[in-house]
Amino acid sequence: MSLVRFPESVVSCRNLVGGEWLSPTEAQTQDVRSPYTGALIGRVPLTTASGVAQAVEAAKSAARDWGLTPLRERTQCLQAFRGLLERHLERLAHLAASESGKTVAEGRAGLLKGLEVCDFALSLQQLDSGAHLEVSRGVTCEYRREPLGVVAGITPFNFPAMVPLWLFPIAVTLGNAFILKPSEKVPLTACALGELMVAAGYPPGVFSIVHGAKPAVDALVEHPDVKALAFVGSTPVARHLYAEGSRHGKRVLALGGAKNHLIVVPDADPDLTPQAVVDSFTGCAGQRCMAASVMLAVGNVQPLVEDIIRRAARLEPGPGMGALIDRSAVDRLETAIAKAKADGALVLLDGRGRRPTGELYTHGNWLGPTVLDAVRPDMEAARLELFGPVLSIVRVTTLSAALAVENASPYGNAASIFTTNGAVAQTVVEGAKAGMVGVNVGVPVPREPFSFGGTGESKFGHGDITGPSSLDFWSHRKKVTRKWSARSDGSWMS
Ligand code: NAD
Repeated sequence: MSLVRFPESVVSCRNLVGGEWLSPTEAQTQDVRSPYTGALIGRVPLTTASGVAQAVEAAKSAARDWGLTPLRERTQCLQAFRGLLERHLERLAHLAASESGKTVAEGRAGLLKGLEVCDFALSLQQLDSGAHLEVSRGVTCEYRREPLGVVAGITPFNFPAMVPLWLFPIAVTLGNAFILKPSEKVPLTACALGELMVAAGYPPGVFSIVHGAKPAVDALVEHPDVKALAFVGSTPVARHLYAEGSRHGKRVLALGGAKNHLIVVPDADPDLTPQAVVDSFTGCAGQRCMAASVMLAVGNVQPLVEDIIRRAARLEPGPGMGALIDRSAVDRLETAIAKAKADGALVLLDGRGRRPTGELYTHGNWLGPTVLDAVRPDMEAARLELFGPVLSIVRVTTLSAALAVENASPYGNAASIFTTNGAVAQTVVEGAKAGMVGVNVGVPVPREPFSFGGTGESKFGHGDITGPSSLDFWSHRKKVTRKWSARSDGSWMS
């Protein structure tokens, strides 16, 4: 387990506009505190509409030339960025951990996933050569992929590097000018990514950062020159942005929250299963949109449940498990556990009040692993996204009953089955509603180029945020039909 290295001094974040680091005028600032210690590690400006307009203007003027730059040259900038990202990976992993509360290992994993997205974008020259076909005598049709212009990404706190990296390597390689609005809770990693984009040699304005909260997002949504918006965050905001962005004529892909189900049957592997369940619901202190939240225990899986409790009880809150983002997250989760108990759940493992030893962590935001049993599907603990290290066990007697619970969830990010029986696994692969299904995998995040995206209220919009379908989100496909020859014996003038 690596201890988190915190920034040596308080970082004053600035916007990246037209290649310059600017403090937006009229903007108030907000403190950024480490979830691990409560210490002040940064300050972030809350950009208003005028600061957003300034960034859009600079991006718009950069977008013209960048869109005309050949893909090969755009790819060379990404190649340089990828090299820098790899070189600075450790520093960024610690920075992401220090401001989001994730572990350093998870910070590293997020960056590695970002490198995979870069690899996908770097392969576009080979993968995405368009299509060209003689469709009738002397007539050819061609696809040309063209950028949209200025596009934006609005990202959540829990993946300070990975989620921005899902978006901008693909968007800028396709010739767009990209504006990142990172979560105001984790602006430091975004600034570090911006520094690497500048160092990689991207022309000024091709990659911009505007910091802030709702007013900055509203300004991006309403700005007529922003042509596409990708959002990743909670479902209420995703739903709202999808509706508002669409109303303003933009392309919108908005990924929301989740309530992920792990289905465990009696023949599940007795070693692999308990560890995978525990890793899934406690990793990043449960602040992952792919984290296990409900375990659907089919039939008698009591030995597995007991092993899960044993393993989870051994975990200490602290740098090995991760901290919750802020005090209000701790309060929200403690209230949810109390409510589940009042509703009739059994608290098999109670993480309330558990915290790491050591003065350093006194003012951190902590909750130990918590396991609730006898949760009914209609209880809030089984339905609402809790976003913390809390596992709700719902007991069912059949696989069909488990699938019925999974299918009834309005969300649809992830579901996994734990079994040693291929037919049982296949029933879940076919019957689960979730967009990402795992077999004996606790966090079934597809590796690139298999794309990332859920269904239901976990995603508003069409296509996935990475992989092949993201190309059609960040670009137009222009269709060209050409005829140069009459293909007849008649005069060429006819
Ligand atoms: P959030 O919705 O509070 O914030 C996300 C972004 O939206 C931030 O940049 C924030 O500044 C902005 N924002 C917040 N409220 C807004 C409002 N009213 N209007 C406009 N913009 C607003 O989410 P969060 O707490 O930062 O992140 C956690 C959530 O994100 C969880 O629900 C998690 O499941 C979800 N998430 C989903 C995925 C996915 O792939 N589906 C990935 C990561 C996180």
